[in-house]
Amino acid sequence: MKDMPETQGLVIVGEAECERLVGRKDAFDAVEAVFGAMAKGDAWNFPVVREAIGYADALYGFKSGFDKAGKVLGVKSGGYWPGNMDKGLTNHQSTVFLFDPDTGQLAALVGGNYLTAVRTAASSAVSIAHLARKDAKVLGMVGAGHQSQFQLRAAAEQRDFEKVVAWNPHPEMLPKLGAVAEELGLPFEAVTQEQLGAQADVIITITSAFEPLLMKDWIKPGTHIACMGTDTKGKQEVDAALVAATTVFTDEVAQSISIGEAQHAIAEGSLTEDRITPIGAVINGAHPGRSSDDEITLFDGTGVGLQDLAVASVAARLAEEEGSAKRVSL
Ligand code: NAD
Repeated sequence: MKDMPETQGLVIVGEAECERLVGRKDAFDAVEAVFGAMAKGDAWNFPVVREAIGYADALYGFKSGFDKAGKVLGVKSGGYWPGNMDKGLTNHQSTVFLFDPDTGQLAALVGGNYLTAVRTAASSAVSIAHLARKDAKVLGMVGAGHQSQFQLRAAAEQRDFEKVVAWNPHPEMLPKLGAVAEELGLPFEAVTQEQLGAQADVIITITSAFEPLLMKDWIKPGTHIACMGTDTKGKQEVDAALVAATTVFTDEVAQSISIGEAQHAIAEGSLTEDRITPIGAVINGAHPGRSSDDEITLFDGTGVGLQDLAVASVAARLAEEEGSAKRVSL
């Protein structure tokens, strides 16, 4: 062992530290950078594993990847335990493992629950920053669950919104989202789906829907829609005809056509894969993004492992810089 290099051991960053250390701006910058790296071919996601384990009704899996540009290698492991709520725990549970890409040694263990929420919010925020009209004034929210509050906070920082309109299949959930809008100083109005489409300049959908909640004819020209809830085969938040009528951007084309919002338009043949642009191309300046004030843009945010690794590596770095990181040697 004498000749082995000294290692400092691995860093452990818990949920509370992630929440304290990683702000919305950190998440935005990390997600924007990794989307750019993906579009340049400098970062790759590996095939996703997601399995029903036949116990506790749980879905368990891995999202993994390597960002060569940022030297971030790792895996997010976890899933969905529907009985957790009754135990006072979040149903979604995950942990990120980061490895040293030069040696393969485990470098960090980072709580993934808060980071998943903040990186998903950063994703729609990045899409708004790059694709929404600069003069967007009304933000439409479809969905009012745990994730919706994160999406709203991050979106509100991207444009000078004057109002939030919202609709949710379970209307009793809307007041909690309204309280967040109020905290942000934005008037909040619960509306019908048609009213939401008629008023909103930017729409975020973040539900667990398996049927379209927004139809093509309800959406006005110039709208930007960020579809964030559809991350599994069979899920759907907007009409396939609406998707086909928009200019479609995504985090990753392979996921967009298989588990994302575009899956249905692709399946019915109204959209082809070559019409879907990775948002990283817009970030890198290789694609102009929105081409006119009337164009309807749609971001299919499917959620990729590299987003998780990007924000986890920020958490590990900030904890180390602050000197608050716990270290353990294996
Ligand atoms: P949540 O359970 O807190 O809220 C669920 C939301 O979906 C609520 O608005 C609820 O009213 C609505 N809903 C529930 N069942 C529905 C149904 N059958 N039809 C229509 N709407 C229904 O969940 P959350 O944490 O807010 O997450 C919302 C969705 O976002 C989930 O489907 C989750 O898988 C997805 N998600 C996606 C990403 C990504 O990166 N794309 C990341 C995190 C979560």
